[in-house]
Amino acid sequence: MMKRFLCAPGPTAVPSEVLVEMARPLMHHRTPQFSEVVAENAEMLKKVFKTSSPVLTLTASGTGGMEASITNFMSPGDTIIVLSAGKFGERFAEIGRAYGLNVVELKAEYGKDIKAEEVREALKKYPEAKGVYTEYSETSTAVAFDVKGIASVVRETSAIMVVDGITAIGAMEFEMDEWGVDVAIAGAQKSFMIPAGLAFVAYSSKAEKLMKEAKLPRFYFDLAKERKNLEKKTTAWTPAISLFMGLNVALKMMLEEGMENVIKRHYLVAETFRQAVQAIGLHLFADVPNVRPSDSVTAIRVPEGVDGAKIPAYMRNKYGVTIAGGQGSMKGKIFRLGHLGYVDKSDIVVELQAMELALKELGYTFELGKSVAAAQEYILKNFPVPNVAVSEAGD
Ligand SMILES: *Cc1c(COP(=O)(O)O)cnc(C)c1O
Repeated sequence: MMKRFLCAPGPTAVPSEVLVEMARPLMHHRTPQFSEVVAENAEMLKKVFKTSSPVLTLTASGTGGMEASITNFMSPGDTIIVLSAGKFGERFAEIGRAYGLNVVELKAEYGKDIKAEEVREALKKYPEAKGVYTEYSETSTAVAFDVKGIASVVRETSAIMVVDGITAIGAMEFEMDEWGVDVAIAGAQKSFMIPAGLAFVAYSSKAEKLMKEAKLPRFYFDLAKERKNLEKKTTAWTPAISLFMGLNVALKMMLEEGMENVIKRHYLVAETFRQAVQAIGLHLFADVPNVRPSDSVTAIRVPEGVDGAKIPAYMRNKYGVTIAGGQGSMKGKIFRLGHLGYVDKSDIVVELQAMELALKELGYTFELGKSVAAAQEYILKNFPVPNVAVSEAGD
């Protein structure tokens, strides 16, 4: 047998509490019992999004939420500004073009981000723009965009600020209302610790005004319809019932830990990874310190002379640890260690030791164990010590 660990930046590991809940006999979705779950989840999601707006749960992967953020607020021919420096930013632009929008793509090289000042200039140049669409954590490059700064620019205009917060919301600081984010999107299989199949979308009153004039066709992802249904503690269509049940347990775990602690844990884990990989001479792909690295995934440049495409394959097939390679043109050039959702100190060591073994086999020269040791040093110094009694008897 080979013991397997899912350490990708989505889908992520699911805690056993959630798996057990999802294995229960199915509940019918048009019942008072399920309505309680719908309402309770929605309340808890507001605490994760930090918003007073309703947070809708769509039965779709994250991309469904992205698509809804276009179709519900725009009309054919409308101009949108898309910040694009990776695969997911590009996806926003592709969806916009698929729906006949005039997409102004603000591009930066992979590994970099687009600064608030550039967005300010673009909004001056395209005052007709109805929306600014951006990533928060660009999962393909492991770069975090300055969403707070960008939102402060967009909020001075009539455009709405739309944030793909999948791999950020629930892992990194996010204040939807306070920052002035108008549409926020999150996804189940990333920081929410449940399997793929749910997308979460919230929208502000500024976005709601735009929605009322928006003429793009929509049916399944009709957010106004979902909002009306949520008021009645239900969903427009048959939801992924088991996922709603699992989400209920996962959200309770997150809120019990406290969002501040969840976010701090993600930061500490990410920082450990960053220190550890650099201790064996590896380089981050994110253009640090010009950009902020994401706290949910670390992208690493494949070292000279190593066959990069083999790193994830070796780690998964020989050592049981699933990470992610580079997407598209970055295949073979980077590899990505995921660390979001159900992650803690021990996961760091699991990933690093497998990474070291794969790199060693693929010919990279370094001292075995050094990244693991660096991680352990960092953990000892920086991680909070849990407040539990350690009995001398060892029980
Ligand atoms: C995973 C991810 C998505 C959504 O992808 P799906 O496969 O549709 O769930 C979108 N944006 C980002 C930043 C992601 O990490």
